[in-house]
Amino acid sequence: MSSERLARRAWSRRRWPHFRPHEFYRGSPEGQPGISIALLDVLERLRVSAGEVPLPILSGVRSAAHNSAVGGVEGSQHLLGTAADIPYGMVTTEEAIMAGAVGIGSRGPYAVHVDVREGPAARWTY
Ligand SMILES: [Zn+2]
Repeated sequence: MSSERLARRAWSRRRWPHFRPHEFYRGSPEGQPGISIALLDVLERLRVSAGEVPLPILSGVRSAAHNSAVGGVEGSQHLLGTAADIPYGMVTTEEAIMAGAVGIGSRGPYAVHVDVREGPAARWTY
């Protein structure tokens, strides 16, 4: 999986027509990582799986301070720009795997975490 990160100015509306950079950031993007290109591709595929309906990004890129504030785990993929949380129930685990997600966690009935981490696949509920 490519770990390439996207500079905010390099956003491609053609490649990711259903998402916008601001959806992935809370507050200023200063000091926050770029969004993983592989993650954006996964999310575009998931939007199709979800039935071509809007797929809200509940949590995207996080600074260390923001990650602590929301109770994110140390070393969270959100800190690397490689994770997004979407609403629970919009896509299945199988659809997430097919779309290319490597890490998939669910916090039913609230959110599903998808990421494109380096290394082995991971599944969990919390
Ligand atoms: Zn998450």
